[in-house]
Amino acid sequence: MSRVLIIGAGGVGQVVAHKCAQVPEVFTDICLASRGIDKCRKIASQIKRKIETAEVDADNVPRLVKLIRKFKPDVIINVALPYQDLHIMDACLETGVDYLDTANYESPGNPDFCYKWQWVYGEKFRKRGIMALLGSGFDPGVTNVFTAWAQKKHFSRMDELDIIDCNAGNHGKPFATNFNPEINIREVTGKGRYYENGKIKYVEPLSVSRTYDFPSGIGPKKIYLMYHEELESLVKNFKSLKKARFWMTFSDSYLLHLKALQDVGMTRIDEVEYKGMKIVPLQFLKSILPDPASLGPLTKGKTCIGCHISGIGKDGRKLKYFIYNVCDHQKCYREVGSQAISYTTGVPAMIGAMLMVTGAWKKPGVHNMEEFDPEPFMVKLKKHGLPWKESFLE
Ligand code: NDP
Repeated sequence: MSRVLIIGAGGVGQVVAHKCAQVPEVFTDICLASRGIDKCRKIASQIKRKIETAEVDADNVPRLVKLIRKFKPDVIINVALPYQDLHIMDACLETGVDYLDTANYESPGNPDFCYKWQWVYGEKFRKRGIMALLGSGFDPGVTNVFTAWAQKKHFSRMDELDIIDCNAGNHGKPFATNFNPEINIREVTGKGRYYENGKIKYVEPLSVSRTYDFPSGIGPKKIYLMYHEELESLVKNFKSLKKARFWMTFSDSYLLHLKALQDVGMTRIDEVEYKGMKIVPLQFLKSILPDPASLGPLTKGKTCIGCHISGIGKDGRKLKYFIYNVCDHQKCYREVGSQAISYTTGVPAMIGAMLMVTGAWKKPGVHNMEEFDPEPFMVKLKKHGLPWKESFLE
């Protein structure tokens, strides 16, 4: 018996609402709130169970506090944008409600995202007796849990971690992002960053690539080194890791368009004058790009996201291992009306919240996923639509 407040009625919010509604024995009452009520109502109308809707600007903490006091949730699932993280955490502190998100805080003016802004809330959350679970999507999220699982079940020492994210799906558009365009482009155009022997190393954006042969009929694809936030918490929590990197696939068409947009200044995040107004080029670009939520019916193909880990196995021998999930865009669309990127993010958000409200994962403070026992999460992934596989490569 628990009450969940979902904030953000975008691509991911739609999946979270559907998935929470599928487990009425855990989430007895659901409220979906966002900046615009229309998107909330549209999603609510797709779901057979009754869910409440509300309009709220999550950056307005007093208004958000008012909504929280009215609905009285046990947990808030934040699937708005990373810009809202700290405001929603402030409202949780004021009202004493647990918090979960899928992306770490970044400020609109600085795309250099990292956990330090949220980790400093640890003491305040502990004192208030409430919990924050950070990064409960797929990557970050499931990739953190996969790493914790590998350590628990198979490795006596993990040496190298490569998180590999492949979207082999095709939506037929020359250029579209599969989650929020502004956040996606800020992430992809940033410098590549990885960890080696306790140091952070930087490379120019998308300047390092290699080919990886993906399972389940996907085959070889070019992967590009970039930075992802889970590396920061994973090297902190698994100290044996000498190297940790993150890789992602991109279609040639995506890269071609992205380069042109960058070259002409359309990905800039500073303000420019336009007809007497101040506009941010990337925000304008976002407003004319396809809404990721609209890609559901168009996207065909699969995603494959996993962790490639090498080190020493429990038996003392060298071990190379890959743990991954393969997800089919059309199958996701048939179930919840969304493509696989939103699905693979929304399902772990629901599972994380479920583990919090049932007490399986409960610890006051601010925590990353790998700090908890991976077992219950791994079991629920299989049950709720994200089955995983393991390959022992050597
Ligand atoms: P969308 O842009 O589709 O949805 C975001 C929603 O949040 C929109 O409905 C938006 O409203 C709403 N919103 C924005 N600002 C506010 C605000 N101030 N108050 C209330 N609501 C607000 O994004 P996605 O659904 O694609 O992504 C959601 C989150 O998931 C992002 O933080 C993204 O980084 C994260 N993500 C995480 C992944 C992971 O694996 N960990 C993978 C993919 C995404 P409006 O419609 O008015 O703009």
